[in-house]
Amino acid sequence: MSKKTLIIGAGGVGNVVAFKCAMNAQIFGEITLASRTLSKCDAIAKNVKAKVGVELKTATVDADSIPQLIELFKALTPDIVINVALPYQDLTIMDACTACNINYLDTANYEHPDTAKFEYKEQWERDEQFKEANIMALLGSGFDPGVTNVFCAYAQKHYFDEIHTIDILDCNAGDHGYPFATNFNPEINLREVSANGRYWQKNDDGQGEWIETKPMEIMQVWDYPEVGEKESYLLYHEEMESLVKHIKGLKRIRFFMTFGQSYLTHMKCLENVGMLGIKEVEHKGQKIVPMEFLATLLPDPASLGSRTKGKTNIGIYAKGIKDGKERTIYIYQISDHEKCYEEVLSQGVSYTTGVPAMIGAKLILEGKWQGTGIFNMEEFDPDPFMEELMVQGLPWKIEEKSNSQK
Ligand code: NDP
Repeated sequence: MSKKTLIIGAGGVGNVVAFKCAMNAQIFGEITLASRTLSKCDAIAKNVKAKVGVELKTATVDADSIPQLIELFKALTPDIVINVALPYQDLTIMDACTACNINYLDTANYEHPDTAKFEYKEQWERDEQFKEANIMALLGSGFDPGVTNVFCAYAQKHYFDEIHTIDILDCNAGDHGYPFATNFNPEINLREVSANGRYWQKNDDGQGEWIETKPMEIMQVWDYPEVGEKESYLLYHEEMESLVKHIKGLKRIRFFMTFGQSYLTHMKCLENVGMLGIKEVEHKGQKIVPMEFLATLLPDPASLGSRTKGKTNIGIYAKGIKDGKERTIYIYQISDHEKCYEEVLSQGVSYTTGVPAMIGAKLILEGKWQGTGIFNMEEFDPDPFMEELMVQGLPWKIEEKSNSQK
């Protein structure tokens, strides 16, 4: 019987998911794109029809409202909900999915709008709820989290008996020509990069502990194939929370992201004058949240597509033991912003997030990734996902490194 797919969120990532599901319409069946603003869904549907020839249905929904979500789910009866709205909506969409017995997928873990903190706790706590409803939730099926988790699982399965250290390396060498803009939702992006950094390591007693760093305190230069050497800064990133649970023998895991000096200077100035604040302030009798106001001023990430040139390179560096010998491998994926735009009218950051969201959903609908309860990406067999990456637009490479390298 033909499947039904519901995508929630008509932003940069939602656009890519809509295109890619339409390109795989034999699996996704009847596809509906729903968001707060119907006109954004209709604009995407029009482009998909023109470029891919597939008709999408569109709908409006406030995903902060469980009753509205349930009403929509009952009307559409989808087999899967792909949540590419904002992390603030994760819990409401998950609860509506369990109320209607529909599989769930997202690309970013839950964040509370009033607290700049993200963790899996509240989503993992819903495991029993998903089991009782006999459905599954796949968390973090974007690039990072997402593909980076799958790269780690693939390294563990095929290259190591034990992985000791992982460095996740995220480089976006794209240039959009604006003095300052963010590549995905500005509020989510700036909250992430202005927060304290954190990495995990085992102490001398063998206990895992999180080490906190100041924002941008640790910088390392990494050499990214097809991009070159880039200053990369240690950040906290959510996939580390699940990877420390699931990767055998791990002793340390860190996450690095590249930033240009101009981006960092702008961010520091904005922070110094209070524009990154997430608490309400009073302005001429009106309450405003500085970060939300800043997001209104900055270019819409969806509009960067046509102007962004250059490449992204995201991967993992893993060191460990195989057959008693030390081994180091680097698995990475390079995307070209202009090629992404040519294919789906989006820049590389939305593309590299939207394609894995589609692949995760495809594997669930095909029954290749199955289960009941809540899952992170590395808990499933990485092979079918890695195969899909190769053919759906995100081909990857593996390099064996000599152990003298980082
Ligand atoms: P955008 O801001 O471009 O789009 C978000 C969309 O969600 C908008 O269309 C917006 O509504 C819609 N939305 C927001 N609130 C609601 C609501 N209450 N009800 C219904 N729809 C709502 O963000 P991106 O596309 O850049 O990012 C989407 C998600 O992808 C985010 O969660 C982000 O964190 C994640 N992400 C994950 C990455 C990864 O590698 N794992 C990397 C990059 C992003 P409207 O219809 O009004 O426009």
